[in-house]
Amino acid sequence: MATFGIDLGTTYSCVAHIDDTGRPAIIKNRPGDDTTPSVVYFESPDNVVVGKEAKAVAKIQPDLVVSLIKRQMGKSFEITVHGQAHSPESISALILRELADAAGENLGEEVRDVVITVPAYFGVAERNATRKAGEIAGLNVLSIVDEPVAAALHYDAISAGGTKTIFVYDLGGGTFDTTVIKVSPEEIQVVCTDGDHHLGGADWDDRLAEYLLEQFLAEHPGTEAADDEEFLQSLAAGAEDIKKQLSRMQSRRFNARFGGDTSQIEVTREKFEELTAELVERTATITRRTLRTAADRGITEFDDVLLVGGSSRMPAVTAVLEGLGLKPRMHDPDLAVAKGAARYALIESIKVHLPEEGGEAPAEVVEEVAEQLNIPVEKVRALAGKRVATVVPRAFGVKVVNREGGREHYTIEHVLRANTPLPAETEPQRFGTAYPNQIEISVEIWEQSGSVESEALEDNEHIAEGLISGLPPLPENSPIDISFQMAADGLLRVHAVELKTRQDLHIEVQIRGGLSDEQVHAARTAVARYNVSA
Ligand code: ADP
Ligand code: MG
Repeated sequence: MATFGIDLGTTYSCVAHIDDTGRPAIIKNRPGDDTTPSVVYFESPDNVVVGKEAKAVAKIQPDLVVSLIKRQMGKSFEITVHGQAHSPESISALILRELADAAGENLGEEVRDVVITVPAYFGVAERNATRKAGEIAGLNVLSIVDEPVAAALHYDAISAGGTKTIFVYDLGGGTFDTTVIKVSPEEIQVVCTDGDHHLGGADWDDRLAEYLLEQFLAEHPGTEAADDEEFLQSLAAGAEDIKKQLSRMQSRRFNARFGGDTSQIEVTREKFEELTAELVERTATITRRTLRTAADRGITEFDDVLLVGGSSRMPAVTAVLEGLGLKPRMHDPDLAVAKGAARYALIESIKVHLPEEGGEAPAEVVEEVAEQLNIPVEKVRALAGKRVATVVPRAFGVKVVNREGGREHYTIEHVLRANTPLPAETEPQRFGTAYPNQIEISVEIWEQSGSVESEALEDNEHIAEGLISGLPPLPENSPIDISFQMAADGLLRVHAVELKTRQDLHIEVQIRGGLSDEQVHAARTAVARYNVSA
């Protein structure tokens, strides 16, 4: 059974498999590139184009092009193109279909069993949406794996054995995250994770494109260039090109042309770094925060600091990390996640043959896989035994009435904290009824939405609720104990007990806004109808 790893990125995606030498290998897309822009162009009601051609028309026909859809994953978000409504899942499915079809064609073998990567900070809803996108695309999703875990798996495969602590700095096209991971022969264990979901290479492009426009307008005041979509598209594309070149060179020139007006705009690396210094500094702030969280857990030294994500190629990134006393190392930044995912897919395909309650893989399964992949039996056995342990990506808590300063307002009190190892179970936390003679207690479960824990309602999202009712009138501040439990797969359960009557409430958090089975089925039919190409 061939298995594949798919890095479904915010801006670029990539597919890898384990080749017949037993090593992970990238499968090129139709134009022959390693990575494919995660951009969908609805050319006509029947035709969809995915990849660099789609990206090229993004600003010219913005109504027909969808980019950065990963930012909407897990949200109730709808976009209608040519009269057909789409969800983040169905758009992502179109990308996945093109990736899988192109890879399949390239290899001459169907791509069906896959592992798809997600950022470590993705919550239950986003992970679920990603899995459904795979199903809509007609794929069999073996598992969803965290991007830094995949990067660590790839690192593990190419580094010498032993236990290592690594810091993964992943600056992609649209998101930034940091993760501390312990890698040992038996286990990959996430220690903590942090990030900014709205910070990535695209922001660097925007800053540079603004600068190019400013320079052009300074030379040609009074033109209408700033209102011309095609001109802006050329600046955006030019900005990304120049940015990439400035990772290797000290200075680049951009030729801007609008109508009869032309400008040769010189951009030095120094100028570019000045324009974007604030963005790099934001990654430093989050890096410092992650180092503090790791230090709280006793980790102050790193065997390696891995740079992942295309944007980590910018020299300013290395410089800022060195300034923090770290020694970063580039690690196959665009492809490490897909390659690690391919390795994870292999692990998963071995594990499906394992006995439920752990134990060794049956010898014949191990031998069969070893033979299929032409890798030593011992290596397959080691992979089969590898555990992956992750953490609670974001804090969860309950809504409480707060009377500080005489004013009554609501806040969120977090019970299950971010970065608690999974599976997690909290001690019961004591709360009290809010009013005299209360006969029912409403328990609202909220999830932290940003990357920093905050008790303000607007920094959290309401995800579930329950009611304990039929209570005798209770005095104010009667005790209620609430505990949280999260399984390794992210399923959250909450238990609340009113201590006087011992009436209790179990809430199993169902994902809100997710697609139902019927919706997945309908989307699958709709997506299958399209002619998808690159
Ligand atoms: P994601 O996973 O978020 O989609 P990737 O890790 O694929 O992102 O990185 C894509 C980003 O990396 C884009 O913004 C791209 O412009 C940027 N990038 C790629 N190569 C370079 C380079 N040599 N220098 C600077 N940025 C680069
Ligand atoms: Mg990425």
